[in-house]
Order: sequence, then structure tokens, then C-alpha cells
Amino acid sequence: MQRYFVAKEQMNDHMVLIHGEDVKHITRVMRMTEGDQIICSNNFDRVCLCEIDRFEDDQVVALIVEDLPSKSELPVNITIAQALPKGDKLDYVIQKGTELGAAQFIPVQGERSIVKWDGKKEGKRIERLSKIAKEAAEQSHRSRIPAIESLHTLEKLIERKNEFDHLLFAYEEEGKTGNHKQLADVFAKAESGESLLFVIGPEGGFSEAEAVKLGEAGFTPTSLGPRILRAETAPMYILSAVSYYFELER
Ligand code: SAM
Repeated sequence: MQRYFVAKEQMNDHMVLIHGEDVKHITRVMRMTEGDQIICSNNFDRVCLCEIDRFEDDQVVALIVEDLPSKSELPVNITIAQALPKGDKLDYVIQKGTELGAAQFIPVQGERSIVKWDGKKEGKRIERLSKIAKEAAEQSHRSRIPAIESLHTLEKLIERKNEFDHLLFAYEEEGKTGNHKQLADVFAKAESGESLLFVIGPEGGFSEAEAVKLGEAGFTPTSLGPRILRAETAPMYILSAVSYYFELER
């Protein structure tokens, strides 16, 4: 069944107003008619089964049939702060990371990031990445669309550290000591509802200075196992481990 996200103010106790691109999708792509059922989420705290009531000029009016339980969000809030990778790898990270339950993504200008975003480019890119996140959230039946934040320097990201309960950075050097337990140790401490911030380096990894800065700011250097993962694989490993630990193993 088709799923649509609406702004909170477009959903009240009885009905949902659908605007914009989704109206075209409902009318032209899906060719729906009155009485057809869809699922709507207010991207916050409600997912509802709805029935299309009528088509107006630039909106579709659907009546709420019933609220649906939403079990598609991870029990912990995961933020992926990804140092800009090359090419369209960030598209991949956002699409797959959304399917795997990430709550938000923060692009980071890593010292060794080859890619640089200039002001004009950034707005367009964030818009495109947000569209990828919305489509992946619809496809994976998420009740929330992950937020795509603006580009951060590492310093700016570190300034925000108090917004999170647990701070980690994926650091392959850490695993060289043979100790790969950091992730399991943090998972054992983390409670449902808490937030974890994971920082991942670019293809060239973190510089020594970046690793020291993160460590001194209280970020735990974390091994993702004995193999070197591509920058775009690392967040997939993390999110899969979170889902296994917090959703499947309990
Ligand atoms: N040092 C790597 C190399 O030799 O190719 C370069 C960085 S790796 C391709 C990209 C990023 O993925 C790293 O900065 C790190 O954040 C993460 N990563 C990859 N493998 C990892 C591992 N085994 N443990 C922790 N982080 C890892």
C-alpha cells in the first residue's frame, strides 16, 4: 500500500491533506480514485490508514480510518556524521542508511575529503539528498524521514556533542590492538530512546589530528572489525549492528 509523508499540520484527528508532488503521484502515477486506501505519516508521532475522500485543485483529502502501530523506527536514535565521500557515495549512504533506520545524517568536511561543496552547490545537494531520504523512507515503510543536516566542519560537529548521549567515531586504527569490543560496550550501556552519534571518515580516513581532536572531545574510537571497510560500507555495518542488537536480539 502506498505510503505518504505529510507535515504535522496537514494531519488532524479526522483527515489528512496531501499536497505537492504526492498529489501528482496519487492522481497521475497511481491513478487512484475516491475510496482507495493509503498510509500517511506525519513524520513525527502518527501513522494512519486513510481513505481518499476527494480531489481538490491542488490537494487530495483523505479521511483517517485508523491509527497504525509504527514499529519501524530503531529503539535508539542514530545520527551518521559522514565525512564527504567521493562521487555519489553519499546518495548510497543516505538511501541504504534510511532503510536501515538512521534518524539523521550530517555531512562533514573531512580534512581528507576530496569532495568540496561550495555554498550554492550545498543547497542543491541537500535538497536532492532529502528527496532520496523521503523515497527510501516510503519504500522501507519508515514512520519518519531522516533529517539531512547542513555541511559541518569537524569543529562544528564537536560543538554539538552535548546533543547526544553517546559519541563514537569509526576508527580502524583502534582495531589494530586486537580490541574490537568498543561497539558492544557502548551498546550494553545505551538505553532505548537514547541518541548515538557516529562519525565516519572519508576514503582517506581521519587524519591523526582529527582522531586526536575527536578523542579529546570524548568520542570513543570504535573498531568495526578486522577488515577495512569502504567509507560507504562503514555506516551500513554500524546500522546493521544496532538493528541486530536492539531489535533482533531482544
Ligand atoms: N585507513 C583506511 C584504509 O586503509 O583504506 C582508509 C579509511 S576507510 C576506507 C573509510 C572510513 O571507514 C574510515 O575513516 C573509518 O571511519 C571507517 N572504517 C573502515 N573500516 C573500519 C574498521 N575496520 N574499523 C573502524 N572504522 C572503519
